[in-house]
Amino acid sequence: MPRPIKAMIHSNALRNNLAIARKYSGQAQLMTVVKANAYGHGIENVYDCFNDGDGFALLDLDEAIRLRALHNQGRILLLEGIFHSTDLDLCAQYNLSFAVHSPHQIQWLQHYQGTAKFEVFLKMNSGMNRLGFRPKEYRLAWNTLTQLDCVSTLHHMMHFSDADGQRFGKNGINDQYQTFQKAIHGLLGQQSVSNSAAMLRHPHLHSDFIRAGIALYGSSPDHPTHTAADWGLQPTMSLRSEIIAIQHVQPHESVGYGSTYIAKQPMKIGIVACGYADGYQRVSPTGTPVLVNGKRSTLIGRVSMDMLAVDLTQHDANIGDEVVLWGKSKYGNILSIDEVAQASGTLGYELMCGVTARVEIQVTD
Ligand SMILES: *Cc1c(COP(=O)(O)O)cnc(C)c1O
Repeated sequence: MPRPIKAMIHSNALRNNLAIARKYSGQAQLMTVVKANAYGHGIENVYDCFNDGDGFALLDLDEAIRLRALHNQGRILLLEGIFHSTDLDLCAQYNLSFAVHSPHQIQWLQHYQGTAKFEVFLKMNSGMNRLGFRPKEYRLAWNTLTQLDCVSTLHHMMHFSDADGQRFGKNGINDQYQTFQKAIHGLLGQQSVSNSAAMLRHPHLHSDFIRAGIALYGSSPDHPTHTAADWGLQPTMSLRSEIIAIQHVQPHESVGYGSTYIAKQPMKIGIVACGYADGYQRVSPTGTPVLVNGKRSTLIGRVSMDMLAVDLTQHDANIGDEVVLWGKSKYGNILSIDEVAQASGTLGYELMCGVTARVEIQVTD
């Protein structure tokens, strides 16, 4: 038998979340973001569920080529654009659309010798200061690209730094949006603006192509303001394992490396086949929630490489019983990945992307 840990991928939840995203995206085209191997779910495992969307977005060329093997026609967008001039040949061969965010990428297009014509999303740095042309430089970049024979279609693109929160004072994200709209004023072309947080929280913003990621994977982009359930989103990944040993500890005895946890009363402790080498965060502290046979309990002491300990004092649990680290129990109860992430000082994004290769993935309904 394999070690009992596995990551279940829930197809019906992926489909449900896509339908929710559709509801919020109105008339816009909905591109499903499948970067980082579909946020850890496996591109091949989500493909059928997302094929109803209006194309895919990711940023790794190898992943794009893998996806093209499944998706022989529709749009595949490279969000970071090309990394080398020779990538243009791959984009031609595999019919990949790409972002252009910097002058060197324009130069590569100017020197392109092939016959392909590319769909390009020109990216503006509207305030995040990560990728893109500043508003003042944007128009020149746009005009340069419109004159190139190898560019068949040109779209406008920006990305919000704060769609999940309230920076930029009481204007929320409007500063970034207005900066973008002002800079593209009078230029033809469709716009790609919103990510999951903007799609859900600011559905009134105009975006011809929405780029939705995290919401499709059942994590709330603005947790804890809204939970996934508040948005109607369902967990798409469940990290499940089993109890492989039980310890009865006495007051003043410790549990795990560093003896960081000391029992105050007699306790029953379950040892679970899951550790940081599976992608569970080592920084997750005592008290991080888990489900034992569908009922809530907590992590105890330090997470080791291959194991962690949970409190079974109030549980009638035995060897082989189910422990859910996040997601859905086979008994139907849900432990939100966002809650586990919050307890661990991170986001659902990082937990789902962090599940390691040794964890078997199983796709179910
Ligand atoms: C990752 C990413 C998205 C999707 O973001 P979510 O918050 O997961 O919806 C959209 N656009 C760009 C440019 C991205 O890098």
